[in-house]
Amino acid sequence: MIVTLRRGWVALGGLAALIGFAALVFWASAPLEISATVQSGAAANAPVLSYVRTGTREVALTFDDGPDPRNTPAILQLLSTYHAHATFFVLGSQAEMFPGLVKAIQRSGNEVASHAMTHRSLATLKPARVTYEITSTAGLIQELTGSQPLFFRPPYGTLTPVVIRAAQKLHETVTLWTIDTRDWTGRSSAAITATVLAQLRPGAIILLHDGGGPRARTVQSLRSILLALRQRGYRAVTLDQLVHDAQPQEAGAHTGL
Ligand SMILES: [Zn+2]
Repeated sequence: MIVTLRRGWVALGGLAALIGFAALVFWASAPLEISATVQSGAAANAPVLSYVRTGTREVALTFDDGPDPRNTPAILQLLSTYHAHATFFVLGSQAEMFPGLVKAIQRSGNEVASHAMTHRSLATLKPARVTYEITSTAGLIQELTGSQPLFFRPPYGTLTPVVIRAAQKLHETVTLWTIDTRDWTGRSSAAITATVLAQLRPGAIILLHDGGGPRARTVQSLRSILLALRQRGYRAVTLDQLVHDAQPQEAGAHTGL
């Protein structure tokens, strides 16, 4: 069964996919907005995090496909300048090549999360290989940072039940995004910034890339994004922080406080 969410449509392959079709379509088409409270500890009931419901003006900037020596240090520098933090969904293969950058991400108060080992679409791989992609990256991150990653984003946003089960087994929350900047298409830094600002709202998870190709425009856009966030009273925090900060409000809402 294959569910591809990247462009907002659902593709199902094979006769076996018809089983559970209704449930999957509902799951994929329903707003992927889940409360932060269900995220505490293991991924719990919710299969996918793409937005954190919060009243606080906080967002999570996320960077995929790194670390990359051409871009990651510049991004870390900008984040530090603006007292902002972000989550980096690193590839295991990149982390192996640039372990110092993984450590630098963590040392600077930013978050290291998992984007699998090789950036192959997990829907095309056998279950044992999917498990390897996810567990080996978690092991590598643990080795480099001393902590297990809390969040996992599948390459291309491609989800399958095997992917979700493998991530949940490691207590990693499967994470997509609220705002897709499409920075990987080579669009201008002004267009990347405009996309973020047009869709900005509390709890948004913003998808950017620090690896996988030339990302000078992403780095360039980051300065104006951080400036605009500050002007609008937003804080850029790690995903873990975003989820954590949303919890008291959720608890209050449930108890009617
Ligand atoms: Zn990616």
